[in-house]
Amino acid sequence: MKTKFSKILLSSILILSLLAFVGCTRVEEETEANLREDSTNKNQVVNLYTDRHYDTDEQLLNQFSEETGIEVNVIKGKSDELIERLTREGEDTQADLLITADAGRLHRAKESGLLLSTSSEVLFNNVPENLRDKDNEWFGLTIRGRVIVYSKDRVHPSELSTYEDLTNPKWGGKILVRSSSNIYNQSLLASFIAINGEKKAKEWAEGVVDNMARDPQGNDRAQATAVVAGEGDIAIMNTYYIGKMLNSSNPEEVNVAKKVGIFFPDQDGAGTHINVSGIGLTKYAKNKENAIKLMEFLSSEKAQKQFAEANYEFPVNPKIEPSDLLKSWGEFKPQNINLSKLGEFNSISVKIFNEVGWK
Ligand code: FE
Repeated sequence: MKTKFSKILLSSILILSLLAFVGCTRVEEETEANLREDSTNKNQVVNLYTDRHYDTDEQLLNQFSEETGIEVNVIKGKSDELIERLTREGEDTQADLLITADAGRLHRAKESGLLLSTSSEVLFNNVPENLRDKDNEWFGLTIRGRVIVYSKDRVHPSELSTYEDLTNPKWGGKILVRSSSNIYNQSLLASFIAINGEKKAKEWAEGVVDNMARDPQGNDRAQATAVVAGEGDIAIMNTYYIGKMLNSSNPEEVNVAKKVGIFFPDQDGAGTHINVSGIGLTKYAKNKENAIKLMEFLSSEKAQKQFAEANYEFPVNPKIEPSDLLKSWGEFKPQNINLSKLGEFNSISVKIFNEVGWK
């Protein structure tokens, strides 16, 4: 009985070893086949997850493919969903690159271990240091300001000055702004924490809550609409939404955009709050070289103007001028802090918003 069992055991081990050996060989063969495929198809593909959905982007990516022979596969989605998807996919992800809006969000992707540091002289030359991650895990591609938008009928720009002035009782019941759950407001407050410290930032948030025309609701565009509807006189919102509304196919949006003015706050102080849309190489990128080439291309002089204009934003590459529409809003002095700080102070900013009751 014992012997029979041993014989069965021995043959089982032999069969298993044989299977394991065959298995190994097959895996090796597959790997080799993949490598061969890679070397024949070398530099052929790059896979991009992006929250942008513009025809201009498609044209630019086609241009990149024509110049380099690298095919670009695009998966579009909402920013937070793309980050969730990357997290879920882990090592198995097909994504080589992530494009998303807001340094706070890019920092979140970095903190979740989704991005990889990129060392590229081209990127270092094209993207100013304050507009990229300090560990080079993401690079800004376009700039937006978070500004004061005012009713041209009821407010004269001479009445406006700083972000801090928004806490002045003269604006009681007149300020419109979206919820604090939105990353744009979190990054705005994070910039004040970076510049003025936590205490002053909290006083600012408290003062704005006191002056709100209504409980926060709707997106940035909805604030401009509410200004024109007379619910309040001024709104805090991102510059590019005015560009989008002016060029909207909806005549009501065009009308709203024409009735509001854009004011860049803090021009005698720390400057207007800016943020970026940016790009990062994913941690598990399978086509790193191609991905870096695409990052470099998008930061280049020839791509920057088109890429920024598609969303009515300012180029990060200082050699490129903004569009005529953006120039018509006037030049402005931006905050001069490293945008990594917006991510670093994000959790304190969320804590402050909760404490002061900014819904
Ligand atoms: Fe936006």
